[in-house]
Amino acid sequence: MRTPLIAANWKMNPAPAGALGTSSPYRTHAAVDVIVFPSFLDLKECLAAKLIAGPQFASPEEPGAHTGDVSMTMIKTLGCRYVLCGHSERRADHGETDADVAAQVIAALERGMHPVVCVGESQEQRKAGKEKSVVKKQLAGLPLESDITIAYEPVWAIGTGKTATPADAQEMHAYIRSLLPENRRNGTRILYGGSMKPENAEELLKQPDIDGGLVGGASLKPDDFGKIVEIAAAMQK
Ligand code: PEP
Repeated sequence: MRTPLIAANWKMNPAPAGALGTSSPYRTHAAVDVIVFPSFLDLKECLAAKLIAGPQFASPEEPGAHTGDVSMTMIKTLGCRYVLCGHSERRADHGETDADVAAQVIAALERGMHPVVCVGESQEQRKAGKEKSVVKKQLAGLPLESDITIAYEPVWAIGTGKTATPADAQEMHAYIRSLLPENRRNGTRILYGGSMKPENAEELLKQPDIDGGLVGGASLKPDDFGKIVEIAAAMQK
């Protein structure tokens, strides 16, 4: 049994209104693990409000001469347990390579943190039938034998309103699971990300290998996010 995990990626946006309040839908739930990934500016307040919060990126370098960065060690000291690694917007905007992402994941694990690692193909790669080989390559350098979470996020579905069909998403999730070492095959959570919203969450979350969602746009709308969490909670697998 894998407890569903719904994670909010607020990207470069302030925390939504009411997010830190007592009845916030971003609080973790009896039947669903809920995590928020706010901007660095909001991280401390989220933790103080007892949300389970982590950064959208942290540098694997030790604290020192790296202008503009925040290190994994600093994040750990702040009290974060989770960290997002390798989001496609980081790969595109900051040129993060698979090797960079692997370094982040390893640094997180070394500090006792839990990385949520994003993989996924572009539209062109899917059109060319290369989605599985792309994802396999993205996973190849990762310590898959460790306790990590994987988020399958087809790049063409992020922020576009286009969603992978539940069948296509399930096929990729099952493929990713087949690549995991035996000791982690059943225990590793694999999230789907890409325009998840209340209208499509049930069909996606009921797929056997989809263990939750990484939610961008809809996570900025507290009511929609709360509905997704409730849909995940109601899921009988
Ligand atoms: C994301 O940012 O990880 C994401 C999946 O965004 P959206 O839900 O807006 O597609």
